[in-house]
Amino acid sequence: MNNPSPKSGILSISPYQAGKSQAGKAATRIIKLSSNENALGSSPLAVAAIKEHLATLHRYPDSGSLGLRETIAKTYYLEASQIVCGNGSDELIGLLVHAFAGEGDEVLFSEYGFLMYQIYTLAAGATPVKAREDNLRTSVENLLAGVTQRTKIVFIANPNNPTGSYITKAELQYLRDKLPAHILLVVDAAYSEYVEIADYSDGLELVKATQNTVMLRTFSKIYGLAALRLGWAYGSAFVADILNRVRGPFNVSALAQIAGIAALQDTDFLEKSRSHNHTWLAWVSAEISKLGLKVHESIGNFVLVEFPTTAKNAKAACAFLMEHGIIPREVGGYGLPNHLRITIGEQTENEALIETLKTFMQA
Ligand SMILES: *Cc1c(COP(=O)(O)O)cnc(C)c1O
Repeated sequence: MNNPSPKSGILSISPYQAGKSQAGKAATRIIKLSSNENALGSSPLAVAAIKEHLATLHRYPDSGSLGLRETIAKTYYLEASQIVCGNGSDELIGLLVHAFAGEGDEVLFSEYGFLMYQIYTLAAGATPVKAREDNLRTSVENLLAGVTQRTKIVFIANPNNPTGSYITKAELQYLRDKLPAHILLVVDAAYSEYVEIADYSDGLELVKATQNTVMLRTFSKIYGLAALRLGWAYGSAFVADILNRVRGPFNVSALAQIAGIAALQDTDFLEKSRSHNHTWLAWVSAEISKLGLKVHESIGNFVLVEFPTTAKNAKAACAFLMEHGIIPREVGGYGLPNHLRITIGEQTENEALIETLKTFMQA
């Protein structure tokens, strides 16, 4: 039999492995710490807005997500016309690559950068190029050294998933200054609402000051709306126009739009989520360190833990946690087979995590 043949690059894609949601059969309680979801659930205002909308599911969504874009614009002091909403920020990553890179072009990102950059690059027939990291942190110098005549896009997740590390505002500015103007810089700020440090940037000021920088944001993380698939891009009027040409006419569901509007107004939930993460990120990091494991400093809602290469390795730790109903994220697919990424959960989940890891390390 002859299979139809896909475009070049497609067969070299390893399908994205999402965080698992099933654990050991013996476990009475499942603690899912594998997808960086919000420990506190979803914005209650968003859930209420969805319930109210259930009578009108026969209607198509607003194809321009106008109400949502206006609410985002008001919240962040932006131009609504330069916002493009997507079916998760994942969709926007894909649309940017499809619009700006193809066969013979290169898309540049950091060694342990978010996996979707690689997947969409290969899907577009373009060539992924990775810049070596220093100690699991993006190296701006190595990124710049990776630029060639063929580079079309540079992706940077700030903070990065799965490492949790970030580059400073000054480094980001330096990167933009040194990148040739025709290269699109995409700053993926999926965790920015969790960030509390002063020298951080989500890229917004670069979007405002340049024509060739895009910021990506999502409702999947701090707003707790991962199930709805909602993200947005902010770029120049030109880039927004390009995205609007290539996106599907109804790429954002009506429920996602309505929930997004409500979630943006739910400052209470946002504050609670941020404050919960502030407390428990520090606690989980400190407790894991006390067990003799290396925890990479994170500014997101997750930690990357390095295990020894002995019997107490990441694979064994993962199996042990799973048996006890706790699901971490394996990151071998990122080239980090000795690490596990673990999301900050709610209090009792974090406590169960530490107790179980302690038992594993002492066994
Ligand atoms: C979770 C995540 C996203 C994807 O978010 P969606 O809006 O759910 O598609 C994008 N980038 C990074 C770095 C992420 O961790």
